[in-house]
Amino acid sequence: MGVAVEVRGLRKVFNGVVAVDDVSFEVFEGEVFGLIGPNGAGKTTTLRIIAGMVRPDLGEVRIMGFNPFREEVRVKELLGYLPEEADVYSRLTGLEHLRFYASLYGGSVDETVRYGAEISGLGGDLNKRAGEYSKGMKRRLLLSLVLMRRPRVALLDEPTSGLDVYSSLRVRDLIKRYARENKTAVILSSHNMLEVEYVCDRVAFMSRGRIVAAGTPVELKEKYNAGNLEEVFVKATGG
Ligand code: ATP
Repeated sequence: MGVAVEVRGLRKVFNGVVAVDDVSFEVFEGEVFGLIGPNGAGKTTTLRIIAGMVRPDLGEVRIMGFNPFREEVRVKELLGYLPEEADVYSRLTGLEHLRFYASLYGGSVDETVRYGAEISGLGGDLNKRAGEYSKGMKRRLLLSLVLMRRPRVALLDEPTSGLDVYSSLRVRDLIKRYARENKTAVILSSHNMLEVEYVCDRVAFMSRGRIVAAGTPVELKEKYNAGNLEEVFVKATGG
């Protein structure tokens, strides 16, 4: 599999606060890569830089070889982004969301809607207004809106935040299966170090803007002689 995302030496400072500091990694096609770390570690800022929404002070990003700040149109076609704070239109039904977004994406609206409905797993609930959905249903709808366009690279900021164990499992399975079937590179962020062990092929631990450890969950547990990724994180940050 080829490299889908390349990140080299990113640095971003907001009013004297170093949000991202010398962050480098690459993500391959079909791979799920997790950016893991506590609040304020720099995960969202890293995703926003990759999406071309925040300009780094230093460093470079390539999405399938393209620069998000110089080749925005090309990169927008390749990229799907689920922000942490994304919300639904409460008066529209789930199906109306799918139709609306599919019409913006171009191509066959019916085919895109059919695929979006399938990956959402919402079934008959798609006919209900999204304002009546539970958090888990909303997150699944929002994720479907991003993925139904079949982006080559998907950036998912806390895709399971606020979800119960059943909804989280559904979303994790959806992400895993989606990445394999479409050879999409997925970069997700999470606080939950145990869940990423299940969904991610490789992870990078972030702390205070820096990557403090990276590798497959198995490699990291061996290297740090740890039973799980929480222990790896504590050891990697010297806690
Ligand atoms: P969380 O898990 O809480 O979402 P995070 O790992 O995604 O955290 P970021 O949101 O990237 O972390 O924040 C990293 C640091 O940068 C924090 O100190 C935050 O306050 C700061 N920061 C992020 N965005 C801005 C901004 N637009 N203006 C000023 N400071 C910012």
